[in-house]
Amino acid sequence: METLKSVIRDIPDFPKEGIIFKDITPLLSNSVAFKQVIDTLRDRYKNNRVDQVVGVEARGFIFASALAYALGCGVVMVRKPGKLPYKTFHKKYSLEYGEDNVEIHQDAFEKGQNVIIIDDVLATGGTLAACIELINKNFEVDLLEVGFLIELDFLKGRENLGKVPIYSMMHF
Ligand code: AMP
Repeated sequence: METLKSVIRDIPDFPKEGIIFKDITPLLSNSVAFKQVIDTLRDRYKNNRVDQVVGVEARGFIFASALAYALGCGVVMVRKPGKLPYKTFHKKYSLEYGEDNVEIHQDAFEKGQNVIIIDDVLATGGTLAACIELINKNFEVDLLEVGFLIELDFLKGRENLGKVPIYSMMHF
């Protein structure tokens, strides 16, 4: 895990002052590290009969799709407003300044499917809390777990995610 941590780059004051941004691009371009991440996630979920891996725009798509391929299951996209072409459900959530929305296609899942959500970073948890509500309110599926590459422990984001099991590969 220390090797993986070494390919996460800290960018101070991005996108604004006071934020230390966890840049995962060195991890993505390192074939050994990227494979280690996907293999770790695959080993974690391979016996869970996962039907759909949900990826959250945009970096979540990278990990969700590679994992879905490794597990042999489907990928579902949760996107920012106005990007999905078919009928959508949406969930509004608060940001530090103002609000935003997440959207999902109305036919994203079949009833009873086993679902996991994958994202890169758990920060305040605001985005993921909205995704969880979006899925739980509109679909009859089993949300097995939410998986992150990185959890920023000091932001206590997991406290905002309710009862859903949470897995984080790395803690900072
Ligand atoms: P949040 O809703 O605060 O948990 O964060 C939403 C998304 O913003 C996360 O999924 C990350 O993709 C991104 N994000 C927030 N804070 C950081 C950070 N310090 N470094 C990298 N990405 C971040």
